[in-house]
Amino acid sequence: MYRTHTCGELRVTQVNEMVTLAGWVQTVRKFGAITFVDLRDRYGITQLLFGEELNTVLDSNPLGREFVLQVQGKVQERSNKNTHIPTGEIELNVVSFAILNKSAVPPFTIQDDTDGGDDLRMKYRFLDLRRNAVKKNLELRYAVNRSARNYLHENGFMDIETPFLIKSTPEGARDFVVPSRMNAGQFYALPQSPQTFKQLLMVSGYDRYYQIVKCFRDEDLRADRQPEFTQIDCEMAFVEQEDILNMFEGLVKQIFKDVKNINYADQVERMTWEDAMWQFGNDKPDIRFGMQLANLKSAFLKGGKIQANGELINGAGFGVFDNAETVLAIAAPGCAEYTRKQTDELTEWVKRPQIGMQGLVYIKCNADGTYKSSVDKFYAEEKLKAIADAAGAKVGDLVLILAGREERTRKAISDLRLEMGKRLGMRKEDVFKLLWVMDFPLFEYAEEDNRWVARHHPFTSPKPDHIDIMINNNPLIENADKYLEHPYSNIKANAYDMVLNGNEIGGGSIRIYQRPLQEKMFAALGMTEEEALHKFGFLLGAFEYGAPPHGGIAFGFDRLCSILGGSESIRDFIAFPKNNSGRDVMLDAPSAIDEKQFDELQIKLNLK
Ligand code: ASP
Repeated sequence: MYRTHTCGELRVTQVNEMVTLAGWVQTVRKFGAITFVDLRDRYGITQLLFGEELNTVLDSNPLGREFVLQVQGKVQERSNKNTHIPTGEIELNVVSFAILNKSAVPPFTIQDDTDGGDDLRMKYRFLDLRRNAVKKNLELRYAVNRSARNYLHENGFMDIETPFLIKSTPEGARDFVVPSRMNAGQFYALPQSPQTFKQLLMVSGYDRYYQIVKCFRDEDLRADRQPEFTQIDCEMAFVEQEDILNMFEGLVKQIFKDVKNINYADQVERMTWEDAMWQFGNDKPDIRFGMQLANLKSAFLKGGKIQANGELINGAGFGVFDNAETVLAIAAPGCAEYTRKQTDELTEWVKRPQIGMQGLVYIKCNADGTYKSSVDKFYAEEKLKAIADAAGAKVGDLVLILAGREERTRKAISDLRLEMGKRLGMRKEDVFKLLWVMDFPLFEYAEEDNRWVARHHPFTSPKPDHIDIMINNNPLIENADKYLEHPYSNIKANAYDMVLNGNEIGGGSIRIYQRPLQEKMFAALGMTEEEALHKFGFLLGAFEYGAPPHGGIAFGFDRLCSILGGSESIRDFIAFPKNNSGRDVMLDAPSAIDEKQFDELQIKLNLK
């Protein structure tokens, strides 16, 4: 037997027991004739004491960091207790030991605060994984996994695996493709999600399906994206949107309970996509704090009409506002006392390329009732007050105003709101706020191809009241500049996203389940009948054999874990992640393959 206990297990109640431990050498501290060793395994650290006799043995067999050690000894109470670790009241007085394996000197310290940079840690990820900080993240991931599985199992969901080698049907992201040796010249694709399979399972009668499953998307990577990532993927038949919302807020609440011991008793708030865009400037608002947008002037469509407060700011001779498509404001609470240096710094902040604005206008709502602004020249004090009122500002607040093109300005003010929220301590890490964002547009306009693309995916159903708009109108967009006036831009989807603290953690929809409507959808997306049949004939065919009404959702498992773990990066919660260029630096993948492999595949490289 290699061990009787783990390194995290022993307590004063075991004093005088003879035990055997095995683990890795964390530190060696020699004090004259005795040596202390911290022995580590997955469960913790136990202090070992090598007395005089063994010390001489150690002299001729020196221990190094990360050596694998087996020790037998007697548990004894420590005179110098360490209250920071659970085993800190005892130590093991070693009687005999064996070095099970030596270790080269690790390239970085295996400690919470390591001296290893990102690249080095990724190259030696197997060592990085020994660190407590990383281990805690993987433990949390496993806890989320277990909690989700339990909940879904208890609610009658069945875990059914779906294939990884499938047909390439790029729509949305780019597919990863895999050449087939047995079918030379033909390729599989790796699934971007099991979407069509889970729908087929509904047709087959497995009315509650789930899978914690890898998905693959060949996208340009941002810090929080991975080319392969994991979803908690779910689908239900004979359900309406309300059933799905209830079932899956139940899932997330259960995860909160099991993993964070948080009793999320509140009803999960709901917001339409339009309200989210209008009040927060993006479709995944962080509702831990207010500071909502004031639309002082906007070309943005709300309920089919252009809404604007433009008169308030127009006509004062201030060209930036007069000529802007959009002018948006937020009121930062209690910031009227910002110094010139602070407002200058904020101006620089919005001018950074990531934000991309030309400048920032501010109005200070001073405690003495006066209003001071960077555009005093153009606006009399009453006017400044009127604008500040429109922005919902109170005495002591600082109104921040951005102007420019609709989309960019909305994104920028939304980023600025989040930044101010952060600076003002309003985005507390230990506060969790869930939100359903609903009623998304069914279509999005793709400028580069002058056509509609599915905002969610092509299997999402329109709101029942909007089906007629889809059926009765030609999808062709004659005037690209006025695509917003095309009836299709008013069609809303039966789609919903779950948002947690400003992050989209899941999204889904009620699906189309009738062939004619699905065909219409493909046509709306610019597919010919042949194309639709070639790509999705299997699904259209299945819809002819008694497809039940159905809908579902998928949660981004990695991201959910990272938010619950209080980290910005999903990489920290993946055992073997890729870096920002999609590389596994430990494996050195992707990499070239042998000539022989090309021959077998009958493929010739033609790099451009
Ligand atoms: N398959 C979808 C996605 O990956 C989720 C869903 O609609 O269930 O976004």
